[in-house]
Amino acid sequence: MTVELGVELVDFVEDTDGIRARLRHRDGTEHTVHAKYLIGADGSKSHVRKALGVGFDGRTYAEDWLIVDAKLDSSSLDHIEFLCDPRRPAPHMPAPGGRQRWEFMLHPGESAEEMERPEKVRELLSPWGSPDDMEVERTAVYRFHARTVERFQKGRVFLAGDAAHITPPFAGQGLVAGLRDAMNLCWKLAWVLRGHAGPGVLESYDQERRPHAKAMIDLARLLGRIIMPTSRAQALATGVLMRGLRLIPPARSYLEELKIKPQNQFDRGLFVERRRRGLRRPSAQPKTQLTRGAMFPQGWIQRGSDGCWSDDALGDGLTLVGFGIDPEEHLGQTAAALSAVGGTCIQLCHRGQRIHRREGDHVWEDISGAFVPGTAPVGWAAVVRPDRTILHDGPVTEAARLVRETLAVLGAEDSDSGRSKEIGPRAAASRASAATEVHR
Ligand SMILES: Cc1cc2nc3c(=O)[nH]c(=O)nc-3n(C[C@H](O)[C@H](O)[C@H](O)COP(=O)(O)OP(=O)(O)OC[C@H]3O[C@@H](n4cnc5c(N)ncnc54)[C@H](O)[C@@H]3O)c2cc1C
Repeated sequence: MTVELGVELVDFVEDTDGIRARLRHRDGTEHTVHAKYLIGADGSKSHVRKALGVGFDGRTYAEDWLIVDAKLDSSSLDHIEFLCDPRRPAPHMPAPGGRQRWEFMLHPGESAEEMERPEKVRELLSPWGSPDDMEVERTAVYRFHARTVERFQKGRVFLAGDAAHITPPFAGQGLVAGLRDAMNLCWKLAWVLRGHAGPGVLESYDQERRPHAKAMIDLARLLGRIIMPTSRAQALATGVLMRGLRLIPPARSYLEELKIKPQNQFDRGLFVERRRRGLRRPSAQPKTQLTRGAMFPQGWIQRGSDGCWSDDALGDGLTLVGFGIDPEEHLGQTAAALSAVGGTCIQLCHRGQRIHRREGDHVWEDISGAFVPGTAPVGWAAVVRPDRTILHDGPVTEAARLVRETLAVLGAEDSDSGRSKEIGPRAAASRASAATEVHR
């Protein structure tokens, strides 16, 4: 992989087998790159989005906001506070490294220059202590937008991050949404380029990410309405409502633990859909907490004296997880097809379950109790994608079928013969090297 900093994408065209992109260096020289795919992660004013001509629906707010980041000598804030004062609404929150952030709404007629003056910033911060004890590191005036692109993919071009969605900051999910995009898209592209999945899987990027990004923006807009009261009466009503909700324990935990945030769970996308009720669903099917298209849980696990978060044990590929039982023992010949796409197996078992450790085995104890039997009963298995989404699940005795169906969904299996396509390292390497060629 080559990272070239200080290079501007000037324009691009899609041809039959890829994208031809013209790049400009700082010294004005240009060169052309031919690539299989292009990701436009070029921010809210995205040149790529405009060139694609896709809509960017939503609204831009009328108000400007001043953002102030400051480092404090002693910073003990451990929660976000919203000052719903109609005279000057102001969210205030902790930030990493002993920093805090304030956001102050500007009134009509107040300019950015005026609000960013050090004396004005000192005046605004004074209710929180002596400004002499605070080191103001950044001030910026900006305007909120709440927009989502009408589709995240057009042909061989994908949009990610602020190029695809911009949100008011009230849910604190601007950058996070972009990270989710990257997590969702990058492994799919890598798998397609290596020949481990068919190009059809790339359509699931839009199916999975767009609804979630939009739901997060809708939440930020709702929070914004609560946070930015336009009158004293509205501020009073909001205060009374919030105080009331805090007296009801379930409502309090709902608000404080931000359970109001939309779950990162897909209705449609790249996972094996459950059969509809009445169609071959065994009546005695055990209860599991696993939802296909949702995130696999995370917990602290241990192997011998090594402990880690389960996400780290799952690795970067496709993982077949067995609950209390080794799924590999039930794979038979399908084990080769799984390992051909870089898939691995792990077993999660009860804490304290007797383990006869072998060198290099994949049996982990569930130290935090996140998995067995809370998530799934002993004897269950799940196929987890590289981005930790649950792709399939079922009885571990049917592990071979789970893997075959998974590979079929990924387009990596010849469903007629039931055998894996030729996807060995040599074929993968030649596909990957064909992915990018550079013309200077
Ligand atoms: C004042 C402010 C405060 C914020 N605070 C938070 C926060 O606390 N938490 C949070 O989660 N989010 C926050 N956000 C939102 C967050 O900054 C963005 O969601 C995030 O930076 C988006 O990342 P991105 O990579 O998609 O876009 P950007 O960060 O905008 O990066 C896009 C990059 O593409 C480059 N580029 C553009 N055009 C071209 C081209 N033609 N060729 C080559 N390169 C190009 C740009 O130079 C830039 O480096 C804040 C935003 C603002 C404005």
